[in-house]
Amino acid sequence: MCVGDGEAAILSLLSEQEGQPRRGSSILWRDDDRNQKPAAKGPTKANVAPLDDLAWPDRKYLHFAQEFGYKAVGISSSRGCPFRCSFCVPHVYSQDSIERPWNYRSAHSIVEEIHHHYDNGERLFTFSDEHFLPNKMARRRASELAAMIKDRNMRDLRFMFDCRADAVDEELFSILKEVGLYRVYIGFEAAANGMLMDYRKDVKMEIYGDTLSVLSRLDIEAIPGMIIFSPTTTVGEVQKNIEFFAGNFATYAEEDFLSRLQVLPGTPIASSLNTQGLLGEMIEGEYSWRFKDPAVESLWNDFNEIVKGRSNDFLSLQAHDRDALSTLKKEIEHDLLRAVSGRMQ
Ligand code: SF4
Repeated sequence: MCVGDGEAAILSLLSEQEGQPRRGSSILWRDDDRNQKPAAKGPTKANVAPLDDLAWPDRKYLHFAQEFGYKAVGISSSRGCPFRCSFCVPHVYSQDSIERPWNYRSAHSIVEEIHHHYDNGERLFTFSDEHFLPNKMARRRASELAAMIKDRNMRDLRFMFDCRADAVDEELFSILKEVGLYRVYIGFEAAANGMLMDYRKDVKMEIYGDTLSVLSRLDIEAIPGMIIFSPTTTVGEVQKNIEFFAGNFATYAEEDFLSRLQVLPGTPIASSLNTQGLLGEMIEGEYSWRFKDPAVESLWNDFNEIVKGRSNDFLSLQAHDRDALSTLKKEIEHDLLRAVSGRMQ
């Protein structure tokens, strides 16, 4: 096992001869009795890779992936996240071992990689970072990146990234829009403050209106990340989530209305649910769970019935027929809200 980034650890392991003791302060191993042991004397220390110095990813299958519809070139510009959302994993792995929970590449390193692909004809990019703008340093880096893209005259570039609702502001986003930002995925998670507190998002849903107004003024598409159902969600909270989703987003995929909390091992929410007796078995790397309120469980079943009952209508739509999609979405939302009313106490 390796603690922290794996690049240096794997090289060090590969360079060792068969039968030699394992070295490296970031490596742990298991003996024949499955006891976990550090490979080196002294405390185990996480590796933090100097990201600017790492080789760029091997892209030999890029065109193959593009033929299957994955058009964008993925760029990894940072690792980790300084926030502590209760369902999320990066901080769980970094909290005890890594001094800097958000490790990042310089704007120069990022623009070099983008430019390389641009010269090869690529125009569409997606940042795969957990959160592209987690702090002041990240915002400064984003401005520098925008200036560099402009200096290099990379026209027709388009890119997207993931961030939180509180990272959106008009000044920075208008600079980014000018050099190609066309879409952001925002982890709203819920439109009810009780759920946001459970998720430890450190935001209140009252800011979401401003976030969406800025994006709308700048004509940047917002893709919402929502967790509509969790074990402790109330019927009223489901209603707020659906109303928020229905009122603000044109996109629709079947799973949007059936999004439910994924409970991963080691996360704060896993221990909280365990204490409340709501956690079940571990199945394929995540915990199953049960609803606290039987009315919400019934509502979950209603939602499945309604959404899956419209599967054929959804599949028969042409991907480009936005009007038909919008009508279908409205009809489904109407049915879901009626189901919510039916389950209100
Ligand atoms: S959900 Fe997003 S903001 Fe929260 S810890 Fe995970 S990556 Fe960071």
